[in-house]
Amino acid sequence: MSSEKPTKSRILPAALLIIGIIAIIAGTAAYIRSEYGYIISDAFAHIGDEKKEAEIIYPQTVSVALADFLADPRVEQNDALMLINTDHLLEDDLSADIEEYKDSGVLMNVCAEAAYADIAKKVDELFGEKLYISSAYRTAEEQAETIAEEGKKAQEVGASEHQAGLALDVYVKYHAGIAFIDVDSGKWVNENCGDYGFIIRYPYYGVASTGIEYEPWHLRFVGSPHAEYIMSNRITLEEYIESLELNEFYDIGGFTVTRQSGDTVEVPQSFAHAEVSRDNLGNVVITVG
Ligand SMILES: [Zn+2]
Repeated sequence: MSSEKPTKSRILPAALLIIGIIAIIAGTAAYIRSEYGYIISDAFAHIGDEKKEAEIIYPQTVSVALADFLADPRVEQNDALMLINTDHLLEDDLSADIEEYKDSGVLMNVCAEAAYADIAKKVDELFGEKLYISSAYRTAEEQAETIAEEGKKAQEVGASEHQAGLALDVYVKYHAGIAFIDVDSGKWVNENCGDYGFIIRYPYYGVASTGIEYEPWHLRFVGSPHAEYIMSNRITLEEYIESLELNEFYDIGGFTVTRQSGDTVEVPQSFAHAEVSRDNLGNVVITVG
């Protein structure tokens, strides 16, 4: 008999306590979300202001065997435009051009080295901060370990750009991961990396295309003029590669860009320098500039 009373009198305070806790959690979550929403949109405020055009052009061309073109001293081959995702896995025997960056112990794709040096130097100049790398090149085994550590957040083996050394996970002191966007240097990197040959590979506006949540720390090297174009137009690498119709020639930022397949390619008759990258879809992208 006496046990009923105290039980009833405890129900109301307990309910109020639970409601209070729920309110605090919901309020905090809403605050964090709006805070990051503001920070993210603020960091990208100027991106998209100046949309870049990709104009179809008709240069004078010659047919040349791809092997001969690649052997031309004016032509440089790299992996900059490889599209790597769950639909386009890397080959098991991928031969990526990996090198240690300036005795740092950090391994990355050779094609990204100069660009990283440039953007890190600029971050130091502007903010007095070091742009560190927490992860760059990973072997398939290391990617499997990353999956074991991070679970679903990590890409399956073969779907990670880290395995080609093309992705750099960057941070500044005290601001790693999503907190990278919480500091001026991180916002600047997110807004300006396109000028240095890098893209934010998983931008907050690209989730529908990439299937991956915003990763402000994951820089992907694609080179010039591709990075400027991708970032200025708020598109993803998937959308960019798909937009390059096979055998067309585009003027992008003063460069001639063409995506072709087969053993013979059509290339501009006269040029000073060209870059060729596999696209990981069976074609090559040729950038002449
Ligand atoms: Zn990454």
